[in-house]
Amino acid sequence: MDIDYEKLIHLQELDKEIISTSLFLDNVPIQIEKINKKKEECSQILTLAKEKITHNQKKRRDLEAEVKDTKEKASKYNRQLNEVKTNIEYKSLLKEIEETQQKIDRLEEEIISEMLFADEIEEEIKAATQKQSEEGMRFSEEKKSLEHEKEELESKRKELEQEKKQILPQIPPDQRNIYLNIFKKNNSIALSPVKGEFCSMCHVRVRPQMLNEIKGEEKIILCENCGRILYWPKKSEKAE
Ligand SMILES: [Zn+2]
Repeated sequence: MDIDYEKLIHLQELDKEIISTSLFLDNVPIQIEKINKKKEECSQILTLAKEKITHNQKKRRDLEAEVKDTKEKASKYNRQLNEVKTNIEYKSLLKEIEETQQKIDRLEEEIISEMLFADEIEEEIKAATQKQSEEGMRFSEEKKSLEHEKEELESKRKELEQEKKQILPQIPPDQRNIYLNIFKKNNSIALSPVKGEFCSMCHVRVRPQMLNEIKGEEKIILCENCGRILYWPKKSEKAE
């Protein structure tokens, strides 16, 4: 019985396509997870900046309250100046007033630097907000196109599997079983064209007598090294 290489090759092409389609489909959830993670990172940057501004506002309020308290203390000391009886008391009060004023200066400087810092944070928030909206759009577009591609490939895979179902019974059972066994073992590639005098999959030389048998196409010849079905490529395939 002649070997139906045409159908075997067709079957192999279908299998290759089914596998690469499945690989892509298996990868889709991973891709979507990646996009979600990036999206989350974006919003986390914004959340952090917002937390910073809240913290900054609270700090400024605290500092302002402290300035207010310290100023009240200073005016109390100033009022007390008129009431002191001794020189020592007077001097010590003056020292208190000076220290209080120093404290006020220090606090006011701190308020200014916190205000400058607030400007920086506001810029950060603005940039993060913009980035979030731009990236957000990009991410949803990426997701949409992935979903679209997924749908297309799923229907393509269905068609391929349908075609495979149709072609399988057309191949003589012994040839089909040899193919299917090697296909399972060899990670999808069950056929190997002979190029020159070599198995094109494992590059081991094919013995001349085997070459003749392969060209005869009367029985299935397996590569002695990798175990794949060897075949003599048609002219069109050789040209590739
Ligand atoms: Zn081989």
